[in-house]
Amino acid sequence: MATSPTSTPLQSAKRKLDVHKRHWCNLHLLMWHLCANTACRRACCCRGNPTACFDANFRQLPEGVQDWFALLAKFQGDDVPFDDAWAELTRLGLVDDLCNWHDLVHGKRSASGAVN
Ligand SMILES: [Zn+2]
Repeated sequence: MATSPTSTPLQSAKRKLDVHKRHWCNLHLLMWHLCANTACRRACCCRGNPTACFDANFRQLPEGVQDWFALLAKFQGDDVPFDDAWAELTRLGLVDDLCNWHDLVHGKRSASGAVN
């Protein structure tokens, strides 16, 4: 496990992003499905430290989903309008990858119809 302290000037911005991360993990990336933390998987959302869960689980996501997230973050950083960003992600096939990932996760949980 890499414990190298990444003390970048982005740290405060990163802290602000924690709320977003939790949101994105749960809603779009479905990271709880991969989470080593049983409580997260049971709750179908990340219950622990969102940053820790994010960092640990992100690398386990399908490559296309990682690309989708990385590119979307880049577009947002570049102030690309969301619609334009989404169109580009769709053209690259990354939205399909994301949808496939959702299907996979939800398919495995098909017995429960719990949708928030
Ligand atoms: Zn978690």
